[in-house]
Amino acid sequence: MTHIKNNLSHVQQQIQLACNKANRDHHSVNLLAVSKTKPCVAIEEAYLAGQRAFGENYLQESVEKIAQLAHLSEASWHFIGPIQSNKTKLIAENFSWVHTIDRAKIAIRLNEHRSDQDTPLNVCLQVNISSEDSKSGVSKDEVLALAQIINDCKNLTLRGLMAIPEKQAPQSTYEEMNALCDLLKAHYPSVDTLSMGMSNDLEVAIKSGATIVRIGSAIFGARA
Ligand SMILES: *Cc1c(COP(=O)(O)O)cnc(C)c1O
Repeated sequence: MTHIKNNLSHVQQQIQLACNKANRDHHSVNLLAVSKTKPCVAIEEAYLAGQRAFGENYLQESVEKIAQLAHLSEASWHFIGPIQSNKTKLIAENFSWVHTIDRAKIAIRLNEHRSDQDTPLNVCLQVNISSEDSKSGVSKDEVLALAQIINDCKNLTLRGLMAIPEKQAPQSTYEEMNALCDLLKAHYPSVDTLSMGMSNDLEVAIKSGATIVRIGSAIFGARA
């Protein structure tokens, strides 16, 4: 089972290479290991190899795994799937990050369900940058209005933007996201995150300013 450790170091090398090409410090890019559908043993193995941030999409499955992995005390859990409003309580209680806020109602409900005793939930707003019907996310011109609502929620910290550009998207799409993130930064000092880039577009995403790349199958193997 040492393949996960090897895969992780391979992905870290890819990140480093992309950072070198882009003249960026590799510490400025964080790897989110997407562990959806993968068993706890696989996550434990990645943790033992030094991985700390894990991304999950399916709520029921992830809540069970998070409970079983409570002993991984430094693990941080990022919710990266579409959000139904009746699921916001479980998300607010179990995760430290949410990448996929796409409407005010979700932000308000996450804020209500996040305990005042907890640190604020770190959130990114999802942008449907390629305007695909199949993808969630706000359009570019809705970003500032939704950001304002999130910023007013005291149990949420607005960290930035998330996008899944369409397959074969040109570099300009990635640059657009970067510019949008810079605009948001100028309004809100808490913004420091651009969650963008998966296995097949990691290099262009890093070239265009991504600070979190989300990689699943290249670490844990193909999903069934
Ligand atoms: C599944 C998923 C990933 C990882 O995809 P892989 O193809 O397994 O690398 C990244 N981001 C999101 C939003 C996902 O749902």
